[in-house]
Amino acid sequence: MLVVMQSHATEEQVRAVCERIESLGLRAHPIPGSNRTAIGITGNSGAIDIGSLEAMSGVVECIPVSKPYKLVSRDAKEENTVVRIPTPAGEVCIGGAALAVIAGPCAVENREQAMAVAQCVKAAGAHLFRGGAYKPRTSPYSFQGLGEPGLKILAEVRERFGLGIVTEAIDNESIDLVEKYADVILMAAEYILSEGNYQLILCERGVRTFSEHTRNTLDLSIIPAVQSRSHLPILVDPSHGTGRRNKVLPLSRAAIAVGADGLIVEVHHDPDHALSDGAQSIIPEELEQLMKEVRQIASVVHRTLN
Ligand code: MN
Repeated sequence: MLVVMQSHATEEQVRAVCERIESLGLRAHPIPGSNRTAIGITGNSGAIDIGSLEAMSGVVECIPVSKPYKLVSRDAKEENTVVRIPTPAGEVCIGGAALAVIAGPCAVENREQAMAVAQCVKAAGAHLFRGGAYKPRTSPYSFQGLGEPGLKILAEVRERFGLGIVTEAIDNESIDLVEKYADVILMAAEYILSEGNYQLILCERGVRTFSEHTRNTLDLSIIPAVQSRSHLPILVDPSHGTGRRNKVLPLSRAAIAVGADGLIVEVHHDPDHALSDGAQSIIPEELEQLMKEVRQIASVVHRTLN
């Protein structure tokens, strides 16, 4: 359910509607827009008695949202969401006119490796540094990640190179720890928004098909499809999406052309000895090439780089 407020509704009127929603045992999500504020309601198992809400001052109407993803939907918010990530070197925006490139190794292997790759990432002009500290793998004998010591190395990368940090949390237990060190945590959209965090970035990283020439099949048609349904920014991960180094640049070009808000790519200074995903990690020279090409294609689709 979406409560649409009048364009001149006051903050007090919005607050009063939120309080009424909460008093019904539901959750209110005020979504400010350029013309008006809408208030998303979640937490209801059945129909909500809208009569009492519709009669409140400042309310235009109550609209039922039939989609299972309510807050993620463009029905809830017409304008694109821009996620702002503060980094020591300034703010990086994802979802606005400027594209963002996130680059770094699959996993943080040790301090020297992380610093060497971060140096290249910074020099190539990418905006954020990626690197996993927790690597749940198919085989128990594969490298599983460094855990908290890996997160501490990422914190050092942020300090030294001014790069914001993007890393994964794999469960409830690791999320508190990851939150201490990371600027962006990649994890399912409606669940996160429904708990009140609207700073969310989607990511296409391939789907499983019968095709054997790639690890996954990168479904770039999802970009315009998501953009018509959702206000959230969306990145493309051509590294996991293909699993092959020689496909990362071509699909990066295609991702920007199709309208993605940026890229997340794996880069390694010595991919043949990488502890995970070396086969899909590009080398620093390729990242430089990628940044150049992305900049050129961005201008064709009327975008810039952060
Ligand atoms: Mn990986």
